[in-house]
Amino acid sequence: MAGGKNTAGREGGKNTADRAGGKSPQPGTPAGAAHPSAPLTKRQAARLFEKLVGDKPPPTTELVFRNPFELLVAVILSAQATDVSVNKATNGLYPRHGTPQAMLGLGEAGLLDKIRTIGLAPTKARNIIATCRLLLEEHGGQVPGGREALETLPGVGRKTANVVLNTAFGHPTIAVDTHVFRVANRTGLATGKTVLEVETGLLGIVPKAHLQHAHHHLILHGRYVCKARKPECPACPIARECHWPDKTPPDKTPAGLNTAR
Ligand code: SF4
Repeated sequence: MAGGKNTAGREGGKNTADRAGGKSPQPGTPAGAAHPSAPLTKRQAARLFEKLVGDKPPPTTELVFRNPFELLVAVILSAQATDVSVNKATNGLYPRHGTPQAMLGLGEAGLLDKIRTIGLAPTKARNIIATCRLLLEEHGGQVPGGREALETLPGVGRKTANVVLNTAFGHPTIAVDTHVFRVANRTGLATGKTVLEVETGLLGIVPKAHLQHAHHHLILHGRYVCKARKPECPACPIARECHWPDKTPPDKTPAGLNTAR
């Protein structure tokens, strides 16, 4: 996930994707398409995943962390920030403050000082300190491994919970951020106007064998190939399986031709 901006975030603790039950369409909506993509069948989805995954090693987050607590804090920090910027901040934070107790000891002002290069830092500092307090008071200083308990933590909504459940606890959840939302809608894997619709659709169609890593495969595909503005359809490994009606056409410009006039 290096360098990619986690545009799913939003100030106020519960970021956009974290309001997954919310109704708001996401920025990855395939706007401009004459028609929504036709839904893929399970068989077509299986073929798409075979080609998308290929023989690549399982991808994972590029956020740097050593334990579930550090992952949780990094994911909260990553709302509307790049993974690179989060890693830079946590690199100076985690060695001495990588536990709820130590981070709580920093206090809101102290934490803010260490993360102020990241967007929405004041809100994030407030949420993280409140989360540390709750972890200590109600969970023995441990990050809970269940969705319900995770979603009671300040700054943690459905998307963040899905990332933590998937990456720290190995649950086959799919966190729908702006990239996953866009790829799912364009390809026809799971069409929907809300992240919850898309998440539910993906959980129903992604082959079991690929559920664990689907989230990261789809994020990377959206970030580097199926980009929001100009998807790289001519070079896309799943172009044949994708049902997006407005694919980017191949570049017909003859190589080497100087078109400047
Ligand atoms: S063919 Fe184009 S629209 Fe479809 S998944 Fe690939 S890059 Fe995205």
